[in-house]
Amino acid sequence: MSRTMVAGNWKMNTTPTEGKALAEGVIAAAGTPSTKVVFGVPAIQLMQVKAVTAANPGYFVAAQNMHHEDKGAYTGELSASMLADAGIDYVILGHSERREYFNEDDSLINTKVLKALAAGIKPIYCCGEKLNVREAGNHEMVVSKQIEEALFSLSRDQIKEVVIAYEPVWAIGTGVTASPQQAQDMHAHIRRMIDNQFGSEIAANVTILYGGSVKPANAEEIFGMPDVDGGLVGGASLSVENFVPIIKAR
Ligand code: PGA
Repeated sequence: MSRTMVAGNWKMNTTPTEGKALAEGVIAAAGTPSTKVVFGVPAIQLMQVKAVTAANPGYFVAAQNMHHEDKGAYTGELSASMLADAGIDYVILGHSERREYFNEDDSLINTKVLKALAAGIKPIYCCGEKLNVREAGNHEMVVSKQIEEALFSLSRDQIKEVVIAYEPVWAIGTGVTASPQQAQDMHAHIRRMIDNQFGSEIAANVTILYGGSVKPANAEEIFGMPDVDGGLVGGASLSVENFVPIIKAR
């Protein structure tokens, strides 16, 4: 089963010099991985890190965002076709920081998902509830709506290319991790939704990552849950010492 993946999200960290050293350092230390490994790098480093991963089976590169239009007067933006032509494998879409600071909603993210797929780039679609939603017990309802609005318009062929990342917002960058059971419960719920909408074969093969304060100390336990296929890792993806044990935990 090739459902497993460990993806790093470097966010707005690392200079190109540091990023190249980080990708090379991870590959040197982790060797040929038994899971897919993705580096989600700042835009300015995409082609450089792609050149590093291209020679190393099992390693891939993700953009952290892209614009929803094909091209035009959108100063500062990157399109799906630019990413595709640069050989970029994945694009992280709908990260909670994009939703929070750049006002992205599920309808916009749905458009981006479709654009990425049309260009041949695999979306890593992020969903997850805020703390107040979890405390009110509405987390399944909120995540259901995110999944429905962003992904249910896809065809069966399209959904096969999508990776889903469940990232409870209260666990991102906070040091507070969802318990393995909390992660498992939501992942099983998401897989059931995919089953209902797209069928059991697709549901059995869809990759669902957990994100939010994944560290070497908790990765193995979280990745050990049956519906957790790996992680989307922020802070701990920024050093070889932390990221490599997480790769090996998967
Ligand atoms: P974190 O970030 O691992 O630093 O909590 C995860 C993410 O935002 O993808």
